Amino acid sequence: MVIKPKIRGFICTNAHPMGCAENVRQQIAYVKQQPTVSPAPKKVLVIGCSTGYGLASRITAAFGAGAATIGVCFEKPPTEKKTATAGWYNTAAFHQQAEQADLYYHTINGDAFSDECKADVIERIKADLGQVDLVIYSLASPKRRDPKTGEVYSSTLKPVGQTYTTKTYDTDKDRVHDVTLEPANDEEIANTVKVMGGEDWELWLSALHEAGVLAPNCRTTAYTYIGKKLTWPIYGHATIGRAKEDLDRAAAALNERYQDIQLQAWVSSLKALVTQASSAIPVMPLYISLIYKVMKEEGTHEGCIEQIYRLFTEGLYAESATLDEQRRLRMDGKETNDATQAKIEALWDQVEQDNFHQLADYEGYHSDFLRLFGFGLENVDYDADVDPVVNW
Ligand code: NAD
Repeated sequence: MVIKPKIRGFICTNAHPMGCAENVRQQIAYVKQQPTVSPAPKKVLVIGCSTGYGLASRITAAFGAGAATIGVCFEKPPTEKKTATAGWYNTAAFHQQAEQADLYYHTINGDAFSDECKADVIERIKADLGQVDLVIYSLASPKRRDPKTGEVYSSTLKPVGQTYTTKTYDTDKDRVHDVTLEPANDEEIANTVKVMGGEDWELWLSALHEAGVLAPNCRTTAYTYIGKKLTWPIYGHATIGRAKEDLDRAAAALNERYQDIQLQAWVSSLKALVTQASSAIPVMPLYISLIYKVMKEEGTHEGCIEQIYRLFTEGLYAESATLDEQRRLRMDGKETNDATQAKIEALWDQVEQDNFHQLADYEGYHSDFLRLFGFGLENVDYDADVDPVVNW
């Protein structure tokens, strides 16, 4: 079939297999051009490995450090009539490239929140790798089924404490307008923490430790976004921010609990970027379009792969990484420093419907959005008839 993007609201409902493969290839090429990650992990588990920051983490571990990788993701396979999700095609492309490079890989497509998935991963580690020395936790999910009670929790993206009115950009209608967001109630806050907080990260580490598959001096990190004044009301100080604070609690608990193997756990703060997860958050498309404009002008713009390569070399495996007061690794400084934020705030105050396309880099935002699904990449013939069925 000839595959063209089908965009519905903030999501694209199909994906292009060749475009996704090209996207993965470009990320691998970037990592290969950089100095080898050293010291480096050898056997890596990436939970949430198929898109965004998790995919970049897997690519950096494999192609930047030569590591064997086991990945976990939750992706839809293709049929004759319907394309797979982008993460499916990304994973197929990653496998193909890892195979050619003679790197061990295995991916489990299942619900990472479940006990079964954890048991499958442990079995696979025992059979093929023995132990892992790095665990990346990069899940972004709107829902979580509690493995003990079976109850399904949903996260919400709402302010905490008070109603918040702000500008937003509707990507579907190409319209800048005000949006008023009602504050979350206590249950919505608690549910968001249940989905996106540290509990599942802790359950993973607990299961892996109990099974004896964490190597001595194993490292682990979960990803957060902290942001600044413009995003605090909808992110940092909102429901999702509460969940992310819970990651800080979990990191401290993990460091305390697994001293027997000298586990080192960090929360890593990454910059705002277009991913499937961030495009669903109100305000973020507008904010990201503005930071793209400012950071590209400053020459400090980075994508997922650049951020994660730096996280490995300047954070996780640096001789002396700089930590913030919460003991987090910070890779977001090029976005959150005061000078850059002042420029973004100045644009934010001016931006309205008529000047949006001049003040913001919406073209950059939109192009990155399409690329997430394998569209708009160089070297891909989008008029060609392609088979959507790609297996791994
Ligand atoms: P993403 O949507 O691109 O990736 C999410 C990954 O989780 C995918 O691999 C998906 O398959 C997997 N997944 C989702 N539900 C799953 C389930 N039930 N079982 C197994 N796998 C599942 O998201 P992302 O933006 O890369 O986010 C990853 C992490 O990085 C999140 O914690 C997010 O908060 C954080 N982060 C994102 C940004 C940003 O701007 N995008 C910035 C800083 C931090």
